[in-house]
Amino acid sequence: MADCIFCGIVEGTVPSEKVYENDKVLAFRDINPAAPVHVLIIPKKHIPSLLEAEEEPELMGEIIAAASKVAKELGLAEKGFRLVNNCGDHGLQTVYHIHFHLVGGRQLSWPPG
Ligand code: 5GP
Ligand code: ZN
Repeated sequence: MADCIFCGIVEGTVPSEKVYENDKVLAFRDINPAAPVHVLIIPKKHIPSLLEAEEEPELMGEIIAAASKVAKELGLAEKGFRLVNNCGDHGLQTVYHIHFHLVGGRQLSWPPG
């Protein structure tokens, strides 16, 4: 989709540090990491937010599977991690191409602010 930064990352016109890729899903390092490990997992297809995910259950399953794989590959299995989706204004979503934050490598707090 034009003017979407994450579509640009999928297409390769925007640089990124990729950590995993298959035909449907891409995972890359967040440019402004909130933890020692902070990876964004996205569908290659442009889906604006979790509100549209109801139409894409198989693709959402691919994202969860990729998160499981990447978490293990990046050494997060022993201590654990968090997988987060921010949706809409109250959720503080800033990029409207659905993405899941895989965050770990330090003790996290709960509940979120
Ligand atoms: P949101 O607030 O929408 O849940 O998260 C968007 C995330 O995308 C933020 O953590 C931000 O640092 C990250 N981000 C924004 N632009 C870029 C970019 O061009 N490259 C990468 N790797 N991450 C980005
Ligand atoms: Zn997009």
